[in-house]
Amino acid sequence: MTRWRYAAATDIGLVRQTNQDAVYVDGALAVVADGMGGHAAGEVAAQIAVETVREGYYADESVGGLVAAVERANAAIVADARENPERFGMGTTLLAVAITYDFAGASSPTLVHVGDSRGYQLRDGALRQLTEDHSVAEEWVRLGRLTPEEAAVHPRRHQLTRGVGVEEAVAVDVLSIDAMAGDRILLCSDGLSNELVPDDLVRLAGDPVDLEDAVEGLVAAALAAGGHDNISVVLLEFDEVTPPASPIHRTVTSAPPPAETLGRPRGRSRPRRFTLRVLLGVVAFLAVAAGVVALTHWYAYSSYYLADYQGAVVIYQGQPSGVLWYHPVLLEATPYSMGELRPLDQRAVKATIPEPTLGAARAYARNLYHEWRLGVTPTTTSTTSTTSGSTTTTTGRG
Ligand code: MN
Repeated sequence: MTRWRYAAATDIGLVRQTNQDAVYVDGALAVVADGMGGHAAGEVAAQIAVETVREGYYADESVGGLVAAVERANAAIVADARENPERFGMGTTLLAVAITYDFAGASSPTLVHVGDSRGYQLRDGALRQLTEDHSVAEEWVRLGRLTPEEAAVHPRRHQLTRGVGVEEAVAVDVLSIDAMAGDRILLCSDGLSNELVPDDLVRLAGDPVDLEDAVEGLVAAALAAGGHDNISVVLLEFDEVTPPASPIHRTVTSAPPPAETLGRPRGRSRPRRFTLRVLLGVVAFLAVAAGVVALTHWYAYSSYYLADYQGAVVIYQGQPSGVLWYHPVLLEATPYSMGELRPLDQRAVKATIPEPTLGAARAYARNLYHEWRLGVTPTTTSTTSTTSGSTTTTTGRG
């Protein structure tokens, strides 16, 4: 048996014009969604996500039901964006904790997560982050390409690698929560976690005051720190909790399963049919294998990045660390040398940041060079017309 008390709040913050976060909480389900996309699309995505997860969970209160609810939310947002082109590109983070029932009827808390909203567990003044951010910078920290300190200021720290409603398939992190009575769970959008350091989170969320006061204190602190984004907070406190009989910690991907290959051979099937099945199976297997090879090849060469090659800034095609036997290919040299980049940008180049196209990689190099130029050439009216002309054409920010 698992029971919790709860409190929640969402606040527009001090900078944004709209609140694209959505929250829902009751005695068995807590959801935070942080929507993204222009023309109110972020709000739509977050609302669809929260609504669909609520409906799906109450239709099937098992772990499978909860994950299926997230997959349904993904499909619902993808479908909505297809019908409403002005909402193209919308998506949302999704973080939920629900009391799920196993086959024996025992209930325990389960967390599902996509994106960079965060779940924390608090006990005796200590804080444990339950979720991993699905953002470019954090994934690179896990790969060892950035230190946490570099990630904290990295330009791509807000760029998500996973979202709900962004693609046909969604990968959902699923985690059983191992808790005791008295533990608190904090769920929040990045508008809270970006403004407050962990020490503040522990102090404010773990304060043995009323849950509502704690939530209010967290929102107030995030506003005081600048309130740069929408702020959403859900705080749960377990009165009673059963640990899961078989704890889960895995990522479930809703990618369509590969085509059925061989049916189970049954004693009754006649030899001829069996042979045909084997043949079909082999054909299907070869098709899947060819697909995997093609996909790997495509992935291996699907991105471009800048690198330092004997002092010159060059463009490679491929994945910086290679994929299987596919190694990155030096595609071309840019007209710039490493010495013509600011020290900060030299580091950025060495971090081999992938760009989706060759054009984007060229533009990136050009921008870095111009950033350096702006630094060394005092901006005066004596700039030649050629220089100002080329500067204008390459400024990408409009
Ligand atoms: Mn946000």
